[in-house]
Order: sequence, then structure tokens, then C-alpha cells
Amino acid sequence: MGLEEWHKFVVPEAEVLGTTIGNTALSDKEKKRLAKFEERVSICEKLQVCRNKQVSYKRVIAMSALAYGWVFRHPTKAIMDKAAMQMMGQILRRGNKHFKFVMEGGALHPWVVTTCRLYNLTMGARQKASEQQNFEWVQSAQHSVWHLRRQMRDLGWKESAPFKWHHDGLNKTLDMTKVCADSALQRLKKLKSLKCEASHWIREAFRYQQWRRFWDKSRRHEVIDMKAKGCNTQYPSERLKRARLMVDDGVAMSIFVGAFRSPGNFSKQEQQKFTVKCIACNEIGYHDHIFWDCPAVREKFKEDFGDAPKCSDLIQRRYGIPLGTKESWDHDVLVLNWMKLIVAEVWAKRYGNDEHRRRIQTAVCKRRRLSTEQAQQDAVAQADEDQQRWLERLAAYEDVNESDGDASFDEYFGNE
Ligand SMILES: [Zn+2]
Repeated sequence: MGLEEWHKFVVPEAEVLGTTIGNTALSDKEKKRLAKFEERVSICEKLQVCRNKQVSYKRVIAMSALAYGWVFRHPTKAIMDKAAMQMMGQILRRGNKHFKFVMEGGALHPWVVTTCRLYNLTMGARQKASEQQNFEWVQSAQHSVWHLRRQMRDLGWKESAPFKWHHDGLNKTLDMTKVCADSALQRLKKLKSLKCEASHWIREAFRYQQWRRFWDKSRRHEVIDMKAKGCNTQYPSERLKRARLMVDDGVAMSIFVGAFRSPGNFSKQEQQKFTVKCIACNEIGYHDHIFWDCPAVREKFKEDFGDAPKCSDLIQRRYGIPLGTKESWDHDVLVLNWMKLIVAEVWAKRYGNDEHRRRIQTAVCKRRRLSTEQAQQDAVAQADEDQQRWLERLAAYEDVNESDGDASFDEYFGNE
């Protein structure tokens, strides 16, 4: 080799296994990945499928392109916040950012996704004595353990010892210990469940942080009002868990994240583009009035829906967030479906939506979940899951294929 071939060895960016190393600015390849992500996300956004499906398509088709190669480094928080917003889509653009992250950020925010990955990767590597020296408790910038420590700190975890973190708010300790078991198979199983657990708590820390930021910082009038009424704003883990379980469409999600605007919400605007009246009487249709206080609204839907539920919990009255206790399931479903019905009616009045009868019917039919219905839903969910798994593998195939060109299609799809 002669000097004339220097350009083969001196390159603007160094790369290891498809990941740019050394510099902190985004490399060309990473910028391309970001562009690819944005392109894919906007294509998914246009698909005429329900929101849940759209989001899961985005996860497998777009997020995979974004998160690839960003285990040991990542773009700025602002870029990742924007990416998370794009993942959540247009329908929720009016919603509160922190609530959106509480509801979906655990799975959709690249910051959380990459932290989970880095944690689990480090834990996996530290199981082997030969690897431990590469993953020691270090301070040096750009080292992967340093990245992990920084990301954990950012999510509210305090270091209580090397590879041991404690979260005060959640009162939870994560300990990255070596897994001991009798057989290799048991060890693998144990490691897998530890990884799932760690991911859960890392996501939970993120949700906790976002929940706190909302209540501590929000200037929304209803938040100030609720706090004045002594509303309990402690992080309600069980309630939010059930809320995530209950979200079955964009309407429910827009209630949970505060994206819905009541007619009364437009009353302070100079030019009143939309009606500010209640959907059933002549008063101004503020949130509490249309959902809970107006007798005319209750009367209006009595025949179709039955008696409207009563709701005294401030957070549930406002954001539909279920009580999440053992006994409250029926109540929680009823409240959410009542709120969805009102939202559908307001939107129909506001936008003259042709679909509005259908939406009301859907809300009415779903008033109670019957077990037979549930069985059907399960079958559909299974089919969706199978499809999703295939898509995930397709996405993984494409990414690996892009980086080194060695993966064969059969390795991914052939042997199962
Ligand atoms: Zn009214």
C-alpha cells in the first residue's frame, strides 16, 4: 500500500459495527437515518387505519430506522422529543406533551427506548467474566457505561453503589447483578425476566418524571383549579396502567392527554369560529358542564346510553383517567365511554362530521364489554400480533442488511 491510498485510511468519521464513534455531532449516516425515519413516519401517518395500528406500524417501520446504531450515542434531546411527537401523530397535537409521554412515551420516546436497550445490553455483557472489564463502572465520557449512568440520572435514578440505582419517587432499586442459576437455560430465563423488569422500571421512571413535570409546571387553568381543590397529584401508577390498557382508539387517547377542547374553551377567542354552547342547552359548554353538570345532556342520551355515570374524582372528571382499583373496572369503562360519547357529539356539532352517528353507536355498543366480544377481540389481537412480529423481523432484516449486507433473508424468515 502506498501513500496515495491515504484516503482509504483517513476518514471524516470512524464507524464500528454501523455506529459512528468519536465525534458528537450527527454523522451523515445518522442524518440520513433521521430523514428516513421522518419519511417513514409521514407515510404511516397517511395510512387509513386506526390510530393504534398506525402507531404500531410507526414503531416497527420508522422507529427501527431511527433507533438503530443509537445505543452508545444519541442525538440531542430536542431531536428525540420531536421524533417522539411524530410517533404519536397529528391526532394528538393539541394534547399536553407530558401527558402524551406518560401515556405512550415509554414505548415511543427514543430516549427511553435507547436507555432500556443500553441497560439490558450492559447487564447481558456483564454476565460474562471476560466482558466485565469492558463494562466497568467508569467516568470517562463517551464510554457506554458513562452514557448509561448519564441517562439513568436524567430519568431520576440515584446511584447507590456501582451498577445499583435507586428511584426515590417510585421507591424502587435496580441492581445489575450477575445472575446465578443451576442450569444455563434457567440462567437465560432469569436474565430475560430481569431485563423485562428493568425495562419496565426505566419506562416507569420516565412516566413518573413526565407526570411530575405536568403537575409542577402546567399553567393550565384547570390544573391550577384542581390543585386549589386539593387534588391528589401523586404519581398514580395503577391508574395509569389501567388507562394504557383501556385506550382503544384516538378518541380515548385525546381525552387521556387533554387534547379535547370543550366548546367553552373557544369562548375567550375574539373570532368565534365554533359554537361555544353546550351540546344540549344554551349555557356555555365548559368541560365540567357538558360532561358532568348539565341535566339536559344526561337527558339527551338517556335513551341510547342509559343513565350517565357519576364521577367525583377530579382527575377522572377532567382526563377520564380510571380509578384503577379492583372494584372500579365497570365504573371506569362506563365513565370513559360516556366521555367518548360526549366528545363525539361535540366534534359532530363542531365539524359537522358525517361519521358522527356511527361514532355514537360505537360508543353505545361498547358501553359494557361482554365476554364473547372479548374473545373475538382476542382473536383479532392475536392476528395483529402475528402481523406485527413479521413486520418487526422485516424491519430488523432491512436494518442489518443496510449496515453490512451479509444477512440473508432466510436467516430472518426461513426457519420458523
Ligand atoms: Zn348544558
